[in-house]
Amino acid sequence: MYINGEWVEAGSGERFEVTNPATGAVIGEVADGDASDAERAIEAADAAFKTWAATTAYERSDLLHRAWMLMTERSSELANLMTTEQGKPLKASQAEVKYGADFLRWYAEEAKRVAGEWLPSARPDQRFLVVKQPVGVVAAITPWNYPISMLTRKMGPALAAGCTLVLKAAEATPLCARAIFGIFHDAGFPPGVVNLVTALDPKPIGEVFTTDERVRKLTFTGSTAVGKMLAGQAAGNLKRVSVELGGHAPFIVFPDADPVHAAKGAAALKFLNSGQACISPNRLYVHESGADAFHQTLTERISKVRAGNGMEDGVGVGPLVNDAAVAKVERQVDDAVAKGAGVPVGGGRLTEGDFAKGHFFAPTLVTGVTDDMTIYREETFGPVAPVITYDDVDTVIDRANDTNYGLAAYVYTQNISTAMRTFEGLRFGIIGINDVNPTSAAAPFGGMGDSGLGREGGHEGIAEYLEVKLGGFAI
Ligand code: ADP
Repeated sequence: MYINGEWVEAGSGERFEVTNPATGAVIGEVADGDASDAERAIEAADAAFKTWAATTAYERSDLLHRAWMLMTERSSELANLMTTEQGKPLKASQAEVKYGADFLRWYAEEAKRVAGEWLPSARPDQRFLVVKQPVGVVAAITPWNYPISMLTRKMGPALAAGCTLVLKAAEATPLCARAIFGIFHDAGFPPGVVNLVTALDPKPIGEVFTTDERVRKLTFTGSTAVGKMLAGQAAGNLKRVSVELGGHAPFIVFPDADPVHAAKGAAALKFLNSGQACISPNRLYVHESGADAFHQTLTERISKVRAGNGMEDGVGVGPLVNDAAVAKVERQVDDAVAKGAGVPVGGGRLTEGDFAKGHFFAPTLVTGVTDDMTIYREETFGPVAPVITYDDVDTVIDRANDTNYGLAAYVYTQNISTAMRTFEGLRFGIIGINDVNPTSAAAPFGGMGDSGLGREGGHEGIAEYLEVKLGGFAI
């Protein structure tokens, strides 16, 4: 772990092993921290806060910029490590390292744009000054699916704002976290400003993060169930909370869209990270007029997606994170088939030869999906594209909104009014219009409903780490 500027073991001396999800091989070992280690890290962050908060935005910007440069210099070793530890194809790891580094560069710039306001008063002898100040010590909990960018997306804005932080990385991907903290160390961040705790059992750490008085803010990315629980605990202690949780993204193809183009977009989007993304499309609504062409193109594309070890050239889909993830996908597909769905491609686990060592599920197309199927409501987090054919254009937005989640949605249309009406009508935080990648460090990412609270990226992302302070000056 990295606490107060030093690499340390857990107080208990315990460690745990990290494995490659494609091969099952042990690839490293990290400290197995507990509640007392989390407290030690919070103590360091708390001690460093006053001095760090008093640095100028220019100093913080320079350090973040340096971290961005180091991350860029080390991008190929980071990408190799990510594929080995998390499983995604090497090209996807390279793209994630770049996306992750962008948050450091963007917030290095944004640090200097945190401004206040000078407000007029109704009293002639009074002036109001509004300033923004860092909230204090931030506790961050991050997931395994994007094991680098989900760290920098929190660290960039928190540090730019003048907060110090303690981060608990996901137990499946602590080596990526360690590499990122190595970069912050080498960039010259002062001791205590960033601290990393690794643990096999996240629960005791979560309890400390949500109850310790010195922590002023909790930021979490992960499942809705855990996010709700942690947000509840943290809110009970009046900590500020941002949570980025699950999703169940609709992908609507209107009759005026080119169904072949839309199917190519769907294929490119669905299999990113083996479908293990909160913005992955989980309900593809295709108008009946384009359904045949859409199915045909998607079938062709999916048949060509090669599953395997992400280190191998030409592999488009890596392993899932563990066996429980494979079992969940299998259960959803079996349920859909039992209720009448078709499976023209894929449909099951991959267990032959080298696949037996990892956690693989075949890239799959499920057609004829209906709203009584589990896959229609439950997040899949796997390489399965569920397609629904619809005929009524007037009700498709309501159908797309019929979920407790509200993270991402995708729309294909060539008609400007349809695009605008759908953009306004969909109850989701991120909407791609003829676009399968509506994300950037410069843009606010986050969801509504069960998909979370708060936004990451953009101007909104740094506001999550700032308090507003009002001064009334009598002159
Ligand atoms: P996923 O299903 O994607 O693994 P989780 O919500 O279980 O999502 O994990 C996301 C992050 O939350 C990980 O860092 C994990 O260790 C952490 N986590 C899981 N359960 C708890 C808990 N009870 N308290 C604190 N953190 C937790």
